[in-house]
Amino acid sequence: VSVRVRYAPSPTGRLHPGNARTVLFDYLFARQQGGTFILRIEDTDQARKTEDALDSILDGIRWLGLDWDEGPGIGGPYGPYVQSERLSIYREHATRLVDAGDAYPCFCTAERLEAMRRQQQAEGRPSTRYDRRCLALPREEVEARLAAGEPSAIRMKMPEGPTRLKDLLRDLEPVDGRSQDDAVLLKSDGYPTYHLASVVDDHLMEISHVIRGDEWLGSFAKHLVLYRMFAWEPPIFVHVPVVLGPDRAKLSKRHGAAAVLEYRDMGYLPEAMDNFLALLGWSPGTEDDFFRLDELVQHFDLSRIQASPAVFDQAKLDSVNGRHIRALAPPELARALRPHVPDLSAALLEAAVPLVQERIQRLTDAEPLLRFLVHRPEGMPPELLPRTRELDEAAALEKAIGALQEARELFTASPLGPGLEQPLRGLAAERGLKAGDLFMMLRIALTGSRVTPPLLESAALLGPAECAVRLDFAVGDLVGRRR
Ligand code: GLU
Repeated sequence: VSVRVRYAPSPTGRLHPGNARTVLFDYLFARQQGGTFILRIEDTDQARKTEDALDSILDGIRWLGLDWDEGPGIGGPYGPYVQSERLSIYREHATRLVDAGDAYPCFCTAERLEAMRRQQQAEGRPSTRYDRRCLALPREEVEARLAAGEPSAIRMKMPEGPTRLKDLLRDLEPVDGRSQDDAVLLKSDGYPTYHLASVVDDHLMEISHVIRGDEWLGSFAKHLVLYRMFAWEPPIFVHVPVVLGPDRAKLSKRHGAAAVLEYRDMGYLPEAMDNFLALLGWSPGTEDDFFRLDELVQHFDLSRIQASPAVFDQAKLDSVNGRHIRALAPPELARALRPHVPDLSAALLEAAVPLVQERIQRLTDAEPLLRFLVHRPEGMPPELLPRTRELDEAAALEKAIGALQEARELFTASPLGPGLEQPLRGLAAERGLKAGDLFMMLRIALTGSRVTPPLLESAALLGPAECAVRLDFAVGDLVGRRR
């Protein structure tokens, strides 16, 4: 059979890291098998769906580089791929189950169901369940109420007997139908519930593998029963474990970013995010854990998904990101850095890449390191004057002025770059300064910051004319402090 895998988001919120991990697994498996990757929009919860959510989910998937073969914006032979455009299909299937006696109309109002739930809770039942009042209605009454247009839902009639819950990762205790609720399949507003819509669509779209979050294990028995009722062969299921935060609670907003696109803004590369997410609950079975997307496709193996929950570790994400930053060709890194250092021209950014490539974990780390290229220092902070025990403040000031003036000559007379290190050390020695003190003064004078890429490479980027301007300004600043 051909491999067809779908990711089926509900447009009720943004794509959070746990869901992003599920899409990634769907994608990797489909690509690895040379199969088809399908996106299906499960927008049947009209109360919870929002337009923005769909856009941001699709943008998140695109940012991760996971292109789909069938679905929104592309179409395909099994469309429409948006469930709200398939309502007649679900009604037809629900009716088929009613006709076969596997489902029944239910006229209970929301108020009645609420009262029933409260009653059952008061009786101390561990879980509440529909009491099947409408299953007991005489046939003629049902017909009459339907004919009169009374609002009704359709519920599945959970059969007695065990259902074996077997997916690719686990073989769970069989569940007895009697322990399950008669779930609503079609709501009175004409929209299907998730249970009906996903089973019908997975079958009609010829989905071969359902890879989804393990929060659906609780519905798994109902789905398998539906396949049996329709006499359809179920797909292969894989329920991937939830992603936990470092405190082992389900990963949520309070652990950091809520949506994958926020990680883009925080300076992570999509390829690093893919690499990191893939390792959440999947083990490559190799020593190395550095993978680009195409390498993930090559190595991915469903059977190495772990059944235990994975923990989201931001420090690990940082380090994976750093490795991907270092693996980029400089022009690619320049392109990725662009939005994070908007003040720098493209040419200057490209020239500056070698200064930061080895030093940053996130793309956002580059801005503070490179801002000196476009922002001139504001002056020399007094605490940066060389402070040797023998010197009083006035003498230290004179020493600093002299050293900076001499350094200015060096910076304008010789080619800028690491070759200046020896002459500067000589200068420091001659003047009785520690080399470190001189370099720190120059760093502040040239960049206005204590933490920058290597000083002489930074000076080279500024160029001799700009170095002269900045050193003159620093000297002027110090001269102004003479008493
Ligand atoms: N619409 C469901 C969700 O967003 C899909 C679950 C599934 O993959 O079957 O979680």
